Amino acid sequence: MNVVNVGYRSVNCYAVETGAGYLLIDVGMPGTYGEFSVALRSKSVPLAEIRLLVVTHFHPDHCGIAQKVKEAGVVLLLGDVQAPRLAEANRWLAKFPGYAPISPDGNVIVPAGSRAAWKSATGVGGVLLHTPGHSDDSVSVVVDGLGAFVGDLRPPEAYAGEAARSAAESWEKIGAAGARTVYPAHGPVFGI
Ligand SMILES: [Zn+2]
Repeated sequence: MNVVNVGYRSVNCYAVETGAGYLLIDVGMPGTYGEFSVALRSKSVPLAEIRLLVVTHFHPDHCGIAQKVKEAGVVLLLGDVQAPRLAEANRWLAKFPGYAPISPDGNVIVPAGSRAAWKSATGVGGVLLHTPGHSDDSVSVVVDGLGAFVGDLRPPEAYAGEAARSAAESWEKIGAAGARTVYPAHGPVFGI
């Protein structure tokens, strides 16, 4: 399986080639749809071949143009831990100029931790995990044979108190799911 970084500005957006279209992980800030389109073209990833979008969490630099991407025909896949937080996220994100609220309609909801549900939704082996630490709505995606897409989750040492404990548990889950390579939303790929 191949992965292409179609990110722009300081955000990594990963397009995972699944054999039946791309799975996209994260998109950029509100108002950057034009830049996103340019990034896709420069990396030869046709928008029409992107089937699914996962946003690792509801921060503007990761889900800012999710609704625009949905309107272009991509299905948004949310973890069951994210879906109930969508309305609140839309309210908070409304302050960012150009933000289009993410519609609750037409999304595919996948239970965190279920390999079977992930496989049937995406066609690829792996699992979506609830990985709080950076934020309570953070999820990571482990794709078998590739690694973990962790969004903004940083090492436990980067946090204090409850967040540090959450982050430690999140990294344990990621390791237990078999990931050895980490694709962060900012900065270079690294190993665990
Ligand atoms: Zn964030």
